Amino acid sequence: MILIINCGSSSLKYQLYTPDLAHVAASGMIAKIGEPEGYIDHFVGHRGEHHRCPVPDHRAAFALMMEYLLSPEYHVIECPGAITAIGHRAVHGGSVFVESVLVDDAVLQALRDCAAFAPLHNPCNIIGIEEAQRLFPGAPNVVVFDTAFHQTVPEHAHLYALPHSLSEDYGLRRYGFHGTSCRYVSQRAAELLNRPLEKLSMVVCHLGNGVTLDAIKGGQSVDTSIGFGTFSGVPMGTRAGDFDPAIIFHLVNERGMRLEEVEEICYKKSGLLGLSGLSNDMREVTDAAAAGNKRCQLAVDVFVYHIRKTIGAYAAVMGGLDALVFTAGIGENSAEIRARVCEGLGFLGIEIDPRANAVAGKGPPNISAVTARAATLVVPTDEERMIALDTVALTEGLPVRQVPPVAKVCHAEAHGLAAR
Ligand code: ADP
Repeated sequence: MILIINCGSSSLKYQLYTPDLAHVAASGMIAKIGEPEGYIDHFVGHRGEHHRCPVPDHRAAFALMMEYLLSPEYHVIECPGAITAIGHRAVHGGSVFVESVLVDDAVLQALRDCAAFAPLHNPCNIIGIEEAQRLFPGAPNVVVFDTAFHQTVPEHAHLYALPHSLSEDYGLRRYGFHGTSCRYVSQRAAELLNRPLEKLSMVVCHLGNGVTLDAIKGGQSVDTSIGFGTFSGVPMGTRAGDFDPAIIFHLVNERGMRLEEVEEICYKKSGLLGLSGLSNDMREVTDAAAAGNKRCQLAVDVFVYHIRKTIGAYAAVMGGLDALVFTAGIGENSAEIRARVCEGLGFLGIEIDPRANAVAGKGPPNISAVTARAATLVVPTDEERMIALDTVALTEGLPVRQVPPVAKVCHAEAHGLAAR
């Protein structure tokens, strides 16, 4: 069995695959680690359980996960030895990691060295790996980085126009995020179009709480909207996206705000939440906008405008566009946002069929109009499956670039958590 672990600062998500990756045997999430009202959601097939209990730390979270995986009630595994390999999601691999790797001491040290780039996330990823090594001695661990896919972004696109020595000394550059999702979705899109990935120029719109737009040419990321940290690019749920850094100096130097306060605003109080004054949840914002709330209408306008503008920029970067791909919570579920993003993109050959768009998710993934010159697709992301594929490839001694095409692997039971 292959166990996939996504260890966040206050959560632990897990997914257990059968060795052939044909089925998800179990999945779940332990949330609010370190808080009094922690809980676990555990799924096996179509059975699910929600159980509240305090989870003081990550070690306790792993113990809880094991309790559920070993529980005779669910018949998932009988002993920890049934886990033959573990794949971990890591947020930041700096410029060191250009692809997924098997974990050894040097990898763990390099991950620690990258912690300054993702101080909230990388330490948790390291804890996850160390716990897995302790619980499953002898089983190989593989780490898959969100930043790795974007290491192909060329220097002229990833370098900021700051003093060169500063960028070199401190590793200041565009790293990008959601790379595992963009990689999976671009492979799936090529398969669905029945065209070689190497011949396609596509823009992937990963629209979730976090938002990444990614220009992918010939299967390689050539530009991406998130940068050094996690808030640049398009406005997100609570993160601002691009804005003039002069605003930070202004708020601190002229308006007397503390830097920590401004940081909190940029990451946690901006984006859809800041614009709408209501919510970071696109469903609530679009519902309120439909009911006449002007600030929510404006929030949606700003969101859509920046996505459309970035698609145009990326088409320019790639010299054209063969496919536009929507994924993640908003991209997969909001026909309204997809339709509004595509409005006015006819000059790029983008034209969607309103009926196909309305049923996307339940109907065919290709939502283009018959007259469209470029395809528009809705492709559910599955980062865990991508991690599982890399884990199997690396533990079998294969290079990760040769993972089997994802469509040839039968898809997991699609239930809430497992699909995300
Ligand atoms: P995360 O980055 O946390 O993984 P998700 O990919 O789950 O985020 O996306 C969360 C976003 O998806 C939220 O803004 C949520 O409102 C939005 N979303 C989910 N379902 C719908 C829907 N049916 N219509 C519009 N937005 C939706």
